[in-house]
Amino acid sequence: MTSPVDIEIISKELDEGLILLDLDANVMYANPKALSYFGERILSNPIYNFIRAPQLIDLINIEKKPKIFEYIHQGNTIQTYVITIIPLTEKATALKIADYSQREAFENVRKEFIANVSHELRSPLTSIIGFIETLQTQEVPKDKSNHFLKIMQDEANRMSRILDDLLSLSKLEINAYIKPVDEIDILENLNIVLSTMEIRLKEKRIEVKLNTESKNTFKYKIRGDFDEITQVFNNLIDNAIKYSPENKTISIDVSYKKNDNKLNTITISISNEGTGVSEEHLPRLTERFYRVDKDRSRTVGGTGLGLAIVKHIMYRHDGELFIESTPNKKTTFSINLPCIS
Ligand code: ATP
Ligand code: MG
Repeated sequence: MTSPVDIEIISKELDEGLILLDLDANVMYANPKALSYFGERILSNPIYNFIRAPQLIDLINIEKKPKIFEYIHQGNTIQTYVITIIPLTEKATALKIADYSQREAFENVRKEFIANVSHELRSPLTSIIGFIETLQTQEVPKDKSNHFLKIMQDEANRMSRILDDLLSLSKLEINAYIKPVDEIDILENLNIVLSTMEIRLKEKRIEVKLNTESKNTFKYKIRGDFDEITQVFNNLIDNAIKYSPENKTISIDVSYKKNDNKLNTITISISNEGTGVSEEHLPRLTERFYRVDKDRSRTVGGTGLGLAIVKHIMYRHDGELFIESTPNKKTTFSINLPCIS
């Protein structure tokens, strides 16, 4: 049989709660997850004091299959746990405890996501189908039919962009734990993205000021995925242009920080003027499909997936994303990345 010491080591890594009970159902051991559910006070006390479910006493003696209990937390928030009772020996029983409320919350996020995807794809599709029907059933003059075709093309492109972004997100989720290893030069990525934006910048008469602390590009090297880092700059600079009025300046500040106990970091801050984002929206900007003003974002071509992608890429690169905004003044998106030197 596995010794309690081994159980302790293994159970520390578990994502679920694990409790060991003696013959009288006193808690002999609880792993960190179980302690986070019920608190340190459960140790050496009877489990019935904390999981007040009348069936528990019988189940500890006879049952072996999963059973759902509703355990009323302090403060009366209802927390649902799935508790599996595992008899170990005649003198010891284990309880495996999974937080069902978290799964419910997860399930709700999933449902909301599917509803959002369906909605976002349905609007362009409805418009395309409408125009096809019109073109099939009515005599439409050439200039008008060309106009319809242009709208259909824009809507089809929009659907294609949404699907590309969703694929990027799912690829990032799958690879979340595989760290990218290529050596890349941040300034190279920045300049590539800026050159692809030249026409749009000219159209809006926006000037970009790139401020680097050092001419020594060696400092700006990181371990990363070239395409993903390019995608980050693409999203952030695209937003800065989209949400900036004409005739303004976008500032890009690149700086390097020496850290004592961890890797040195590079910070890239991209700032633009404009209406900005009020405080209550800031924490939600990186949620999928979240846009402060859906109509405005839609007219400038946004689907609300850009920052969700940036957040995932930062996670994969051990980086961070910070957002600061003073409405009607300045909005700054900063990323921190560990660098090679
Ligand atoms: P997408 O990037 O998918 O084409 P999007 O730009 O609308 O669409 P995100 O990049 O995720 O989506 O940004 C989410 C929202 O954050 C935007 O809709 C906008 O409301 C707000 N936002 C992002 N960047 C800025 C900015 N620089 N200034 C003001 N608001 C911004
Ligand atoms: Mg965007």
